[in-house]
Amino acid sequence: MIKDPIESLASIDREFGEHGGVNMSIEASTTFTVMEPDTMPALFEGDTEGREGCYLYGRHFNPTVFALGRELAALEGTEAAYCTASGMAAISAVLLQLCSVGDHIVASDTLYGGTYAFLNDYLPLKSGVTTTFVDLADADAVAAAITARTKLVYAESMSNPTLRVADIPGLANIAHGKSIPLVIDNTFSPLLIRPSAMGADIVVHSLTKFINGASDVIAGAVCASRDFIRELMDLRTGSLMILGPTMDPVTASKISLRIPHLALRVAEHSRRAEVFASRLADRGYKVVYPGLAQHPDHELMAKIRSNRYGYGGLFCLDMGSTNRANHLMDLLQNKYGFGYMAVSLGYSETLMSCSASSTSSELNQQALETAGITPGLLRISIGYTGSLEQRWRQFESALNELEVSKVA
Ligand code: PLP
Repeated sequence: MIKDPIESLASIDREFGEHGGVNMSIEASTTFTVMEPDTMPALFEGDTEGREGCYLYGRHFNPTVFALGRELAALEGTEAAYCTASGMAAISAVLLQLCSVGDHIVASDTLYGGTYAFLNDYLPLKSGVTTTFVDLADADAVAAAITARTKLVYAESMSNPTLRVADIPGLANIAHGKSIPLVIDNTFSPLLIRPSAMGADIVVHSLTKFINGASDVIAGAVCASRDFIRELMDLRTGSLMILGPTMDPVTASKISLRIPHLALRVAEHSRRAEVFASRLADRGYKVVYPGLAQHPDHELMAKIRSNRYGYGGLFCLDMGSTNRANHLMDLLQNKYGFGYMAVSLGYSETLMSCSASSTSSELNQQALETAGITPGLLRISIGYTGSLEQRWRQFESALNELEVSKVA
């Protein structure tokens, strides 16, 4: 396997358009013709002609979506991948595939709010699958939480919003020692971190974020072994096939057109985030950024990241209170034109949100405290439009105004 994701991507067989177009065609059909009557039952019996699946019906496999899956498998260094209608569809399909009634999951205590809600509220209610949330930095606690019913260990490579970095090699050792898989959500760190190279068995993504990068589609992906992708697509028990969170081929085409500039975008997001984080820290602000020496996982990140893409495009600023965080966002958006008060991340423009009252609001007070999500924690996904110094001037002006205003 080639170790560099961008070299892997450039090495896969090019998918040309139907008429030799440089971009792949969009396969608009939801159903596919067979030339011999006997072929159809064979397809339904699982004769996939050596691929993860076959072209039978659009909810099963679609050639355009399949081609995007090959690109994501190359990016993540996995044998195969398939795409879904959202990041949550990818996460829920994987967890439902690995767990049955009464099973158990060990997961990080700092996760995206939707994933937390799926594990903490939805799964126990609908299936009796329970989760123990642990501090992943405590390897003994992770090992101790695994029981005979535990089916997987789950973590985000870089957590939302606290930017804690998962020790993927260490977690893989623990999980594999107990013969269970490690599932990693790599949404925050495509290219930066390649979990499969460090032992993760299944990598999930919200493509909605950095990978698509244009904030115009909701999408997800599961990157894993060919056998696991086949399982997800099984006609009787596959979570993707049966629950049907299918990606639309037009969406697959759009995302595929944006993957070639992912590396340029990620490098620039990271370059700017690092400058902002260090200037804000120098100004005395409480900044959370894995690229800063004071970040608890700085050394771990330096060890596991690819050093071409910096430390990621997000940083958090603890403004001390919701009021101050809101006031700063208001100034940044409405007076200085710096960015947008909006959830999500990985967009060309800067997106800012107060996590405790938005994308982490599914966590109760206790869970917020355990995760370290304070009320004034502002999550900033830094954009790359305009010049860095122009953006910094806007940010500084907003900070200067906030500081004189004495808003508490
Ligand atoms: N994983 C992470 C880390 C996220 O931040 C999000 C959404 O914010 C998701 C998964 C869910 O992705 P989607 O909104 O595409 O379903």
